[in-house]
Amino acid sequence: MKSEITSSSSGGGGLTDLFCRSISYLRLSLTDRCNLRCMYCVTEDESNGCLSKLGHGDLLTYEELLRVVRVAVAMGITKVRLTGGEPLVRRDVLGFVRDLTRIEGLDDVRITTNGVMLERYGRELYEAGVTKVNISLDSLHRERVAEITGVDCFEQVWRGIETVLALGFSPVKLNMVAMRKINDDEILDFARLSQRMPLQVRFIEFMPIGASSRWNADTYISTDEIMARISTLGELLPLQKGRHDGPAQVFRLGAEAAGSLGFISPLSHHFCDRCNRLRLTSAGALRSCLLHDEEIDLRSVLRQQGPDAAIREALLAAIRNKPQGHQLEERLRRTGSDCHGRMSRIGG
Ligand code: SAM
Repeated sequence: MKSEITSSSSGGGGLTDLFCRSISYLRLSLTDRCNLRCMYCVTEDESNGCLSKLGHGDLLTYEELLRVVRVAVAMGITKVRLTGGEPLVRRDVLGFVRDLTRIEGLDDVRITTNGVMLERYGRELYEAGVTKVNISLDSLHRERVAEITGVDCFEQVWRGIETVLALGFSPVKLNMVAMRKINDDEILDFARLSQRMPLQVRFIEFMPIGASSRWNADTYISTDEIMARISTLGELLPLQKGRHDGPAQVFRLGAEAAGSLGFISPLSHHFCDRCNRLRLTSAGALRSCLLHDEEIDLRSVLRQQGPDAAIREALLAAIRNKPQGHQLEERLRRTGSDCHGRMSRIGG
């Protein structure tokens, strides 16, 4: 282990943390608001309409976000993902995206969305340079999507998927959080979808995050179990990991499949040793691990009119604090406590 951050941090030569991981990826939660009420993201009170939301002044302005990204890119960040909450519900998001994609040195801007507004915004996103999209969809049945998300939106999301495929977005990834007795009877249907359509269907292990999560040991299904079930359909052919695959292990279900399958295993085979991410929450806090509650208040730094050097210092401090691993299983075992943050604020 090294004793300090090796970074030509002010010179744009890249950022390396204390555990020799190269940090090149920043995830921005644009808002904690969302047009859906997914059962694993909101508390029961919230699903009944009592939403606790950040005030407008709590969010970083677009100017503040752009300033942070410019500094981060000069330090070595090359990839940014917009998430939330639902990023596409923030007002004037397309104008922000256009300014963001014009930042010199930033050649990879992606978005994670529930897909509800993709039919409407897909073309403008594509023209602005956002051509890679992750879409969350936990069921292929209209009624079940309504149960999981609280909104009857399946058809809208499906049209969104067709829109981005027709526009030429690539890759188009479909994120399915597999939950026992909730949607696990659809694992095989999702796998078959990857044979018919040029999508990367990704199975994500359900994570215990915050009070809002309905996670418990019974709803959790491991990647190994998901893969074993899918193997009954045919051979899972491993694909060479591509630049766009992130932490997923990627396979093709049979040689003829139009798309691929990704497996993301934050609990069973965590990928902390390869984690290259920093997060900026919708309240303007820097977070170096999704599952660690420690944060650095970058919003205060920005609002105290600090110089770029102060932003740089905050980013370096976040990298310095990046834990070696999330150790969530151990924490759950020891204290019964999970990560307290809220997915919608942290940015999933
Ligand atoms: N609104 C956008 C969307 O739906 O994709 C972005 C935010 S959402 C929080 C990002 C992703 O986090 C979604 O794919 C969602 O399924 C996933 N997610 C939320 N809570 C989760 C949990 N407890 N375990 C695993 N994935 C979770």
